[in-house]
Amino acid sequence: MTQALIAKTKLADLVSFLALCGKVVGPVPLGHGQFKFAEVRSLAEMALDYIPTILPPKKYFMPQYETLLRYDGADGQQMQAVVEVEELVLFGVHTCDLAGIQCLNVVFSDRPRDLHYMIRKNHITLIGLECSDYCDSYASCAMLRNHLPKGGYDLFFSELSDGYFVDIKTQKGEQLVEESGLFEPVSDAAREQLQELRRAKKQIFRSEVPIRYQDIPRLFDETFDSDVWTRIGEKCLSCGNCTNVCPTCYCFDVMDEPDLDLTRGRRIRVWDSCQHETFAKVAGDESFREQRSDRKRHRFNRKFRYPMKRYKRMFCTGCGRCSRSCMAKIDLKETLGALMEERG
Ligand code: SF4
Ligand code: SF4
Repeated sequence: MTQALIAKTKLADLVSFLALCGKVVGPVPLGHGQFKFAEVRSLAEMALDYIPTILPPKKYFMPQYETLLRYDGADGQQMQAVVEVEELVLFGVHTCDLAGIQCLNVVFSDRPRDLHYMIRKNHITLIGLECSDYCDSYASCAMLRNHLPKGGYDLFFSELSDGYFVDIKTQKGEQLVEESGLFEPVSDAAREQLQELRRAKKQIFRSEVPIRYQDIPRLFDETFDSDVWTRIGEKCLSCGNCTNVCPTCYCFDVMDEPDLDLTRGRRIRVWDSCQHETFAKVAGDESFREQRSDRKRHRFNRKFRYPMKRYKRMFCTGCGRCSRSCMAKIDLKETLGALMEERG
């Protein structure tokens, strides 16, 4: 079976079934229109009609703070690798965040492979959920072609009138469908409803900035010396919010945390940000990107230009989190618009 149906009345039973098998994480309301991914035990705790969570699901693949190894120097140099991992089901992940996880998969499976990431990823089951409307005005998922499912999940749910159309992508997903006993075969009427949903999306989701996907890297190539970078550099606070909330930002720092005896300790990695002044600082107090404008330009080029050369994909999913969370109101879509205007 590659597709299935589940009635809306059975969704709560599915979440309870998943919670019996292990830890389930889903979108949870925080009030004030904000959401986060957090552990749930039931469907009632979740808000499936949600806009992007404050932090993306990358926090489960690449924790903000992660122990890589423990060391003990009392008797020579003893080091023991540590992988902090648990079985997890991520429920209700939107297509933009699935795309973000695909970006991380590409980076961390590039050589040298990041075994901590790869091991953790193998313990996570991904259940996607289709959006049938825009989250808010910050979204640019259609421009980045991430408003439709493009794999990267075990199961993917699309809402129909009284149930969900389920695309089954992996053996893990198929096993879940079979073992839960809550799914039924797809009917012709359900297939027609899914097609209708996708037809309606074609009208709703259109490129949010008047530029073609394939032309975006060239825009950044041609505007490297643009005044736009100076202008947004003057506004930027270098807080690093935009990188922390980005589902595809993966830069980290590695440091040792010694115990009080200064003999034992652990090596950890923590999220880092190219927006921080220290990020590009090297010996002799030199910095590759001393100015905020340089750091902002670097971040945008790392989303839209450089990864196209290396990975043949853009590292912006269009989730809108960076614009939504920026205290200086630096907006990604406005920045693209300003670059297009300046280039003419
Ligand atoms: S969130 Fe805004 S102010 Fe903070 S570093 Fe990013 S662009 Fe600058
Ligand atoms: S750059 Fe902004 S809109 Fe693009 S993926 Fe990162 S947070 Fe989302």
